[in-house]
Amino acid sequence: MLRRIASLQRPDEETLEALEEALILADVGPTVALRLVENLRRTPVGDESPHERLRKAMLEILTRSSSALSTPSEDRPHVVLLIGVNGSGKTTSVAKLAARYVAQGHSVILGAADTFRAAAVEQLEVWGKRLNVEVISHKPGGDPAAVVYDTCEAGRCRGADIVLIDTAGRLHTKDNLMAELAKIHKAAGKVIEGAPNEVWLVLDATTGQNGLRQAEDFFRHAGVTGLILAKLDGSAKGGVVLSIAETLDLPIRFVGTGEEIDNLALFDAEAYVNGLIGQD
Ligand code: GDP
Repeated sequence: MLRRIASLQRPDEETLEALEEALILADVGPTVALRLVENLRRTPVGDESPHERLRKAMLEILTRSSSALSTPSEDRPHVVLLIGVNGSGKTTSVAKLAARYVAQGHSVILGAADTFRAAAVEQLEVWGKRLNVEVISHKPGGDPAAVVYDTCEAGRCRGADIVLIDTAGRLHTKDNLMAELAKIHKAAGKVIEGAPNEVWLVLDATTGQNGLRQAEDFFRHAGVTGLILAKLDGSAKGGVVLSIAETLDLPIRFVGTGEEIDNLALFDAEAYVNGLIGQD
């Protein structure tokens, strides 16, 4: 539907309205949809087709997002925290990232700091065994900051390249969660100066606008430096990527494309836009 309407040759009012509706149905969000359509309505018809202008406007929103950090910076070990609401795909993303970095020849250590969910710790340990990567964990219900401290310490002692830390997605209140994250930051920084180097927010692409609002609300003050968009394979409403980029103004580092360990891809803005509205 969106692809068909987006291939519009003549931007008459009826088509523009249909386009706006199709964009909203694809979960682009009303604000972004209106802005994209207004852009077509306002700009004088030149040599470029309306489809090409729409494509460029979408890419502009995603520009910040295409600068994916495929390999970690010079800091060793490079400490990355993964945060997000429960079930968004954090633990799976930690395992996928570990597999990716190991395949690139980096040494990796994992921290199971989601001590509130015993299953998350077990899950990470299973992945760790499979990847032959060390997983630092404590007893269920233990202090997450202590796990982070020990994981960073292990990373430093073993001279690891990358430390990836899974965190809890739900505490009793938002204030508790934010206090816990602050404690985790402090623990990492105590062991390794400047750590954590990255904080990646994992979002579930299938939850659309609601999930986005929820995450935004929770993590506005968590020092997030990038996004991982999990479950993009299961989302019929891929347009949410545009509203995420626009609303959170953060680079999308990776997208999850399935439940398998290698189902993680760097975000490619051009390929994404072509997938959404087709090519000329
Ligand atoms: P957490 O609570 O944030 O740690 O979430 P999990 O990593 O446990 O993931 C929750 C569920 O989502 C699991 O069933 C995962 O297999 C699934 N999942 C995670 N990432 C993806 C993805 O990219 N695609 C699909 N289809 N499923 C995913």
